[in-house]
Amino acid sequence: PAPAAVQPPRQFKLDPQSELRVEVLPDATLRVRLVSGTAEIFGTELPPEGWLTIPPRSKIAIFTWHGATVELDGVSESEYTSDETPMVIYVNTHAILDARRARARAAQGGDLEASQGPRVIVVGPTDSGKSTLCKMLLSWAAKLGWKPTYVDLDIGQGSITIPGCISATPIEKPIDIVDGIPLEMPLAYFYGHPNPSINPDVYKALMRELAQTLETQFSGNAESRAAGMVINTMGWVEGLGYELLLNAIDIFKANVVLVLGQEKLWKMLKDAVQSKPNIDVVKLHKSEGVVLRNSKYRQKTRSFRIKEYFYGIANDLAPHSNVVNFSDVSVFRIGSGHQAPRSALPIGAEPVADPTRLVAVNISTDMVHTVLAVSYAKEPDEIISSNVAGFIHVTDVDIQRKKLTYIAPCPGDLPSRLLIASSLTWYEQA
Ligand code: ADP
Repeated sequence: PAPAAVQPPRQFKLDPQSELRVEVLPDATLRVRLVSGTAEIFGTELPPEGWLTIPPRSKIAIFTWHGATVELDGVSESEYTSDETPMVIYVNTHAILDARRARARAAQGGDLEASQGPRVIVVGPTDSGKSTLCKMLLSWAAKLGWKPTYVDLDIGQGSITIPGCISATPIEKPIDIVDGIPLEMPLAYFYGHPNPSINPDVYKALMRELAQTLETQFSGNAESRAAGMVINTMGWVEGLGYELLLNAIDIFKANVVLVLGQEKLWKMLKDAVQSKPNIDVVKLHKSEGVVLRNSKYRQKTRSFRIKEYFYGIANDLAPHSNVVNFSDVSVFRIGSGHQAPRSALPIGAEPVADPTRLVAVNISTDMVHTVLAVSYAKEPDEIISSNVAGFIHVTDVDIQRKKLTYIAPCPGDLPSRLLIASSLTWYEQA
């Protein structure tokens, strides 16, 4: 694209309950400042003073409840104001969830069911604003002092850690406008692909592991139990995608299903959970501000998320390069596509492939540019039930010398020698 023209600083006067929608370019900085009044970006208030640098490629809305003047400085791809937003409905939803949290807290010490706060799952097609609604609900709750758990099941466009993971993290304060979800302690399980159809059984198995770990944490922590969860899901809502949504509702014992922007999906889910007690299926409007992203764009975002993990959002981290001998690590893949040949089976036996079987993988040059997860497992057979410590990116494989070179966000030895292979790639020049 042609270099963007210089734009002088400009101010926008926003009426109550309106928003300024801004798209940031990939390679130009844009700063935002609150001049007067109050405003928030996806549930997090703008500081009363000073400029905020919005990360490249962000698409944001600066919303005000009571009116505000805001100033932009730098070049943007687009900027316009709108007074048609679903924010009142969203904040009313938040208020209902908040009342449920308070009720759960009041029931502490009593029965487990009553002391469980809302478990909200947000569903809808791609680009319906699911992640954004999750952020708002979490930030509004955190502002009131709750510490809800954010669960991200979106392996394609997840916002907690790198793609290919399902993960969870407590949200203890409104989500930082610039830095996003805090990355200190996510509980992450590695699936290794951006699409669940490659091995849905593994995806389900990992959901069960994550849910079980959270269940254990909640049973020892009344505060996070009462605060509940906000669960983000994939935008795939048909066929297998729909089936996995139903699975997620079950596995995480969701009791509030928020359906964004699709009447049909709302109706289907409502009918599907009818027989189960205490699940509310609520239909919500999607915001017209949600920016549509095509699959190429999404693929690019995945790449950037991987890059960010190693280099930081503002390119401010320096990853560490390291070399290991092939014999120092063991790489596995979860799930095999291959079945045992019939000839190897006893006569009459049907071949059964265990979709969650662990397969040892030989290190080869095919691994260059891929991401490997470092498992917390002590033994290979614990890999599927273990969360991961972090990720490395393979930069070179020397078959002759039997050495693998990688970058990692931290220096020093790997926390474990058990690694999980993936189909996620990232190229330095991207
Ligand atoms: P989904 O999770 O359903 O795929 P997202 O919540 O990620 O959708 O929204 C898609 C994009 O639109 C994101 O970049 C998000 O920041 C942006 N977006 C969401 N709501 C608004 C809004 N009101 N104004 C401008 N951009 C928005």
